[in-house]
Amino acid sequence: MFLNIMNNDHNSGRWLPGGFMDSSTYLDDDRHRSGQRFARRLYIPRIVGLGTGFFCVTSVLVMQPVSGWWWLLLVAYSFIWPHFAWKTADHSPDPAQAEIRNLMIDSFMAGVWIGVMGINVLPSALILAMMCMNNVGCGGLKLFLKGLGLIGLSCSLTLGIFQIPLNLETMPSQVWICLPFLLIYPTYFGLVSYRTALKLSEHKKRLMHMSTRDGMTGVYNRRHWEDLLHGEFDNCQRYQRSATLLLIDIDHFKSINDSFGHDVGDEAILAITEHLQLTLRITDVVGRFGGDEFGVIMSGTSQESAIQAMARVRDYLDEFHLPHAPHISLSISVGVAEFDHNMASYREWLKSTDVALYKAKNLGRSRTEVADIAA
Ligand code: GH3
Ligand code: MG
Repeated sequence: MFLNIMNNDHNSGRWLPGGFMDSSTYLDDDRHRSGQRFARRLYIPRIVGLGTGFFCVTSVLVMQPVSGWWWLLLVAYSFIWPHFAWKTADHSPDPAQAEIRNLMIDSFMAGVWIGVMGINVLPSALILAMMCMNNVGCGGLKLFLKGLGLIGLSCSLTLGIFQIPLNLETMPSQVWICLPFLLIYPTYFGLVSYRTALKLSEHKKRLMHMSTRDGMTGVYNRRHWEDLLHGEFDNCQRYQRSATLLLIDIDHFKSINDSFGHDVGDEAILAITEHLQLTLRITDVVGRFGGDEFGVIMSGTSQESAIQAMARVRDYLDEFHLPHAPHISLSISVGVAEFDHNMASYREWLKSTDVALYKAKNLGRSRTEVADIAA
């Protein structure tokens, strides 16, 4: 009878009835916190759902003679239970499981109220629909079926044990009283689902960023950059396009690290990254290939233009001084290879560029060498 939020927590797989994630990969602490978040997310919706549902049930009970105990139970369930449910789940060693148990209690109680109302059609259908929406949204088909079974069981028991006669007909006044439940609850459900979807999409974006970017520099990491290179190679093959590949390595970087410490080394890596991003075109794809090595894919660019671009980077570096080690001069060696249709794969392209870089290093560094494709 209360809104249940789709469980989007990234740590939630273990306790979802329809489980979709291997729990063993998560620490107990993470699992506990994620369960607590789940329980907290259900807290307000449960208050809203049971608060509005109270009036639905009341609209029927006022028209039929029921014991005062039912009224007591209805008030306690509608207004005290949501707080108790959250507290018990929050303090449970396994909050997620506790919350699933709470959901099952809700299903059971929904059946009880349907029974007490003598299955008065409109309020009963509303309660059933909302519970099904909850359970399906929270735990998929499995929780839905379990909840449905419990509703059926508790309804039959209530009707049988308390000898409650069927009272199917809904009066116009009862329709009006049920309206807030009908309108407020699904709207709230929609709102929470929308927020959940937004959160999911943010999570996805963050994961995407983490899996494709180098943590330190923010440019593409090697794996993703190689994927992009693969794509560029295929495009060049298929559409007869030109592209140039560059591998850039900082000269004597080890000695910067050894003499001035890793912090200054990191500063140098960040400075080179920034220079590359500022100097090259927005369409050039920069990736961190290794420790002090970068790769650049220049789509639709000849090797002459690529060499000119590297000359601009070098000019910039000549004037540049690291803030914490101004006396160090940074220089780079560059290997360049233009795409050639005779290349069998992008790996061959990469290999040619690497050979050119090796040549630049061997010929004294701080220079750009072009791959000898024919060789
Ligand atoms: P060469 O001129 O031949 O390139 O010599 P080099 O000293 O630059 O040698 P190399 O390129 O092999 O050195 C790479 C070094 O970069 C080795 C590693 O300790 C260091 N390194 C790798 N990743 C990082 C990093 O993230 N930060 C820092 N400070 N150093 C790194
Ligand atoms: Mg180096």
